[in-house]
Amino acid sequence: MSSTGKPLLGAIEAGGTKFVLAVGHSPAHIIARHEIPTRDPAATLAEANAWFEGHGAIGALGIGSFGPVDLDRSSPEWGRITNTPKPGWANCDLVGYFAERLGVPIGFDTDVNAAALAEYTYGAGKSAASLAYITVGTGIGGGLVLDGKGVHGAAHPEMGHILPRRHPDDRDFKGVCPHHGDCLEGLASGPAIKARWGASLSELPADHEAHEIIACYLAQLAVSLIAVTSVEIIVFGGGVMKTPALLERVEQLASELGAAYFPGKAKHKIVSPGLGQNAGLTGSLLLAADL
Ligand code: ZN
Repeated sequence: MSSTGKPLLGAIEAGGTKFVLAVGHSPAHIIARHEIPTRDPAATLAEANAWFEGHGAIGALGIGSFGPVDLDRSSPEWGRITNTPKPGWANCDLVGYFAERLGVPIGFDTDVNAAALAEYTYGAGKSAASLAYITVGTGIGGGLVLDGKGVHGAAHPEMGHILPRRHPDDRDFKGVCPHHGDCLEGLASGPAIKARWGASLSELPADHEAHEIIACYLAQLAVSLIAVTSVEIIVFGGGVMKTPALLERVEQLASELGAAYFPGKAKHKIVSPGLGQNAGLTGSLLLAADL
């Protein structure tokens, strides 16, 4: 129970390498945070559940999960991770597991939609009507909030899998996406960078061609997003984006690739996360608060 007399909110940011857990009085007020490594589902979920039980009764839980996930409330598979290649996790019933043990209502979305919601509400987009959140790391994913609502469509956006135009100095690399080869994730994710150049982007010298090539692909995502949705704020987060000057290169190239042409260009902004590492977790708390 919180000091305000209302039950605490719980949140899980379920990632492929770690689960981040939190309880808070409100989405903007996290009072305890805990990280556990992602192992097999049985061990990981049991450890997460034990942590929540150690914090007394929570009133609702929000989960922002790596995908793909089933977000269709009318589906018998709602709340599950679906056909992930991550060993053991395909068809994992995340919501069912915690609903049974904690007995509370549960909000569920992708990790990137949760992060987009948080950045829209409290972070880089708090004075805008629309925001996209892109993470560039082990994979590339994106969430989109238009007029205050996360966009789901038939399932959820998979922005990391758009098909960019190849950079002229990057014709031969086949790409690492198991589904599409040289989609955006196949060309510009952390593993794609390692596969091409044997190092992470931040380990390569500042004048290495990799910086321009990766920025070119990410800029194409930004231009595509603006062209299709007219979104105002595009937040780029994730490990690869910690590379010095990468965001500025993406911004510059997006402008050269055509973003400067679009109407409303003064409102289109490419920025870093306003909430730092807490976007996904804060978004998961928002999912819990919305129940
Ligand atoms: Zn792909």
